[in-house]
Amino acid sequence: MAGESIAVVGAGLLGRLLAWKLLARGCQVTLFERGSRAGERSAARVAASMLAPYTEVASAERRVFDWGLMALRWWPEQIALLQAESGRQIAHAVDGSVVVAHDLDKSTLQHFMQQLQAVVPEHLERVQRLDRAQLTALEPELAQRYGEGLYLPDEGYLDNTALLAALETAISAAGGQWREHTEVAELAPQRLRVGGDWQPFDCVLDCRGTGAKGQLAGLRAVRGEVLWLHAPEVQLSRPVRLMHPRYKLYVSPRPQQRYVIGATEIESESMAPVTVRSSLELLSALYSLHSGFAEATVEHAWAHCRPAMPDNLPVVRAERGLLQVNGLYRHGYLLSPHVVEAALEAFDRRCIG
Ligand SMILES: Cc1cc2nc3c(=O)[nH]c(=O)nc-3n(C[C@H](O)[C@H](O)[C@H](O)COP(=O)(O)OP(=O)(O)OC[C@H]3O[C@@H](n4cnc5c(N)ncnc54)[C@H](O)[C@@H]3O)c2cc1C
Repeated sequence: MAGESIAVVGAGLLGRLLAWKLLARGCQVTLFERGSRAGERSAARVAASMLAPYTEVASAERRVFDWGLMALRWWPEQIALLQAESGRQIAHAVDGSVVVAHDLDKSTLQHFMQQLQAVVPEHLERVQRLDRAQLTALEPELAQRYGEGLYLPDEGYLDNTALLAALETAISAAGGQWREHTEVAELAPQRLRVGGDWQPFDCVLDCRGTGAKGQLAGLRAVRGEVLWLHAPEVQLSRPVRLMHPRYKLYVSPRPQQRYVIGATEIESESMAPVTVRSSLELLSALYSLHSGFAEATVEHAWAHCRPAMPDNLPVVRAERGLLQVNGLYRHGYLLSPHVVEAALEAFDRRCIG
């Protein structure tokens, strides 16, 4: 609705996407962020930002898969728009991912196929078994160590650093107001409090991720750790998963031979730096995947928490003057397209007017 004053609390993934969309409709948007607009206090910046409906549904509900397929169509369209508006390039691709396992762990590939058979049987034909020659054609450096694997053509990734920066530029260009280093102490329908001052708005959007704990019943934080590497001796062009009975590892590519390595998943709300144990587990598994990572440099070791509801599914709650959107858990980039569209619909129906 044009002209409505909207406060977006939390400029992580959801806050930025919703602010960008509402500005396009002519709303006056103010973003409140306890960190800076660089996003250093958000899970969104830490994430590997893989778009992996097949590998994620193995341990999630069917809905995650269906919403994830929608994301594979949504992101390329929205990224094209965002690139045009911001003048920034955002590396992204939906040209598949590769799954491998060491000889001793080959049964994990079979187990993964059985999980898919149980949840998405009609999509199993999209999963391709690879022999060494086929693996060589897709990811030649993996074929030196692995004689077989799986190819999941309907998976991809995007460069989250570039995406968050492009959203910041597009939001500012569209007239969005940034209140950085501003922690919102309390929020309610049509108002929020910073320090001792209540400020009125037509609608408040609560996009605080784990910061909403206490106000959203059942919300919990699930710790994750990632390493950001520069690996000049490694050339992988698509996301890769190593299936292992204990250490599940993924590698998400970034431009200029950079890779995001992840991720631990720990039922803890600790935001402490990455531990030695997690680094050892991630890096040992990584070296076993590709020895070229031995000479890589660790550019960042980041820990953050994923916001999760008891059923690990997202939540959109709307009432007049207040929209709460949360619970993206480990699928933020995969599910935000569906959640943003659902939130905008709820906003129109319930929040304003
Ligand atoms: C290690 C790791 C790896 C991940 N990998 C993937 C992946 O590969 N694919 C995928 O799809 N998803 C992934 N995710 C999940 C994804 O990052 C999250 O689901 C997503 O970022 C959640 O978005 P959000 O906007 O709800 O929260 P966030 O991105 O955390 O943003 C919330 C924002 O609110 C701000 N805030 C909080 N409280 C306040 C307050 N009181 N006042 C002002 N500001 C406040 C915070 O500073 C933050 O900027 C990963 C997450 C982690 C931690």
